[in-house]
Amino acid sequence: MALREILLGPLYIARALATTFKHNTKPIVTIEYPERQKAVPPRERGRHILHRYADGLEKCVGCELCAIACPVGCIVVEAAENTPEHRVSPGERYAKRYEINLLRCIYCGMCEEACPYDAITMGPRYDLADDHPDKFIAVKEDMLEPLSASLSDTAVPSGSPSAQPVPRKW
Ligand code: SF4
Ligand code: SF4
Repeated sequence: MALREILLGPLYIARALATTFKHNTKPIVTIEYPERQKAVPPRERGRHILHRYADGLEKCVGCELCAIACPVGCIVVEAAENTPEHRVSPGERYAKRYEINLLRCIYCGMCEEACPYDAITMGPRYDLADDHPDKFIAVKEDMLEPLSASLSDTAVPSGSPSAQPVPRKW
């Protein structure tokens, strides 16, 4: 080994350690996905959310305007009548079945635009990974907002039979 290399060895080691310590003090940029997700812009068009009113009633009235507006036909809505004993939304009808094929969806936001009651919006979640195509059919329960903590998980308020849905403020 040359004398020069013996003399410069500690210098090389010191430089390597300096590089290591320099990176140790930098902020961590790796995110433990999927447990944690990156913050997204406020207008991100991620996975759909079906909303409720403050009293727990569902905003969706099953009018199918979102399904008609969807350019790729990936929304299926089946409406049913509300009754005094079983009221799910204000007004006459509610969405008994609401499904979106997330593999066909192009996340254009037309469903959100078409809804007269702001019942559906595009949320911040963008994770979309699974092991079978059937698992990409989002059903109503996957998209529906949870009942707020102040409401019982079991009892959806019966509401007033004459209650009317609140239209979007344009
Ligand atoms: S975002 Fe666009 S493609 Fe996806 S469900 Fe809504 S209207 Fe259809
Ligand atoms: S989400 Fe809106 S547009 Fe679609 S069925 Fe429900 S109320 Fe109608």
